[in-house]
Amino acid sequence: MAMISTYLNPSSQLSGPKSCTAASPPLFSGLRRSSASLSTTQSFFHSVNSHTLRSSSSSNRTSRGIVAMAGSGKFFVGGNWKCNGTKDSIKQLVSDLNSATLEPDVDVVVGPPFVYIDQVKNSLTDRIEIAAQNSWIGKGGAFTGEISAEQLKDIGCKWVILGHSERRHVIGEDDQFIGKKAAYALGQDLGVIACIGELLEEREAGKTFDVYAVPSWDNIVIAYEPVWAIGTGKVASPEQAQEVHVAVRDWLAKNVSPEVASKTRIIYGGSVNAGNSADLAKKEDIDGFLVGGASLKGADFATIINSVTAKKVAA
Ligand code: PEP
Repeated sequence: MAMISTYLNPSSQLSGPKSCTAASPPLFSGLRRSSASLSTTQSFFHSVNSHTLRSSSSSNRTSRGIVAMAGSGKFFVGGNWKCNGTKDSIKQLVSDLNSATLEPDVDVVVGPPFVYIDQVKNSLTDRIEIAAQNSWIGKGGAFTGEISAEQLKDIGCKWVILGHSERRHVIGEDDQFIGKKAAYALGQDLGVIACIGELLEEREAGKTFDVYAVPSWDNIVIAYEPVWAIGTGKVASPEQAQEVHVAVRDWLAKNVSPEVASKTRIIYGGSVNAGNSADLAKKEDIDGFLVGGASLKGADFATIINSVTAKKVAA
């Protein structure tokens, strides 16, 4: 497979005509592709402004009476356990998940801390797949503290979460680094849950995401996670999330292909819980969730997974 570096990061412009070009580096970055050697990253910067958002035909989807999925991909719910848990608490969580009744038409993934992946893999129902929360940029070797995509595959991981805001803004990972990780993980046939999302000051400046072209979209789920909503209890409104998801899907349709726009799952993350997931799920372009805190409670996570049923009822 051609080596493709894919990475996502926030921005699009909800207001103001501040369009960015390759000549004026963007404040935020998005989906990119690198050269085959991965030694340089060739990026294609695109911005979407509020006028484009509101005038696009697909944004009219919000007014439909019957809720359906705009995309053709299966509803997808991921649980990001972050740096939480002990052997005992994870045993309990796995037991709760194993006994939960889950709607069949949902792809479900959980991301335990590395050290518990094996425990989870050996005790969790096969109904739920496993994601790692990070992976190295290449083949393993003398890289102290890192975990390679090959090792993740070896212990049964199917997915890896990359570009999470905590890795960007707390650990300090930049787009180039994340892009290399994504490229390598995709090349090893790991699915990538690629996170994008704006900081509060970026949203206040009218920006939510930037998107860069990538040539391979087969194994990517895009998680729109506004940073101001992650772990804050301040969830985006269904309308706010829908607006950005529509913009991402429109961008994919125009810049990649209608097929990719249709099949790529665009999921929302940021303070999703058992009480708000149904209202979010009703939005046509919300294809699922990436869940942090609430994924640590089996019953709540199951409720969020089962919010897929909200898509099947009249709005
Ligand atoms: C996350 O970390 O991806 C996340 C969405 O966290 P929370 O649900 O706790 O806001």
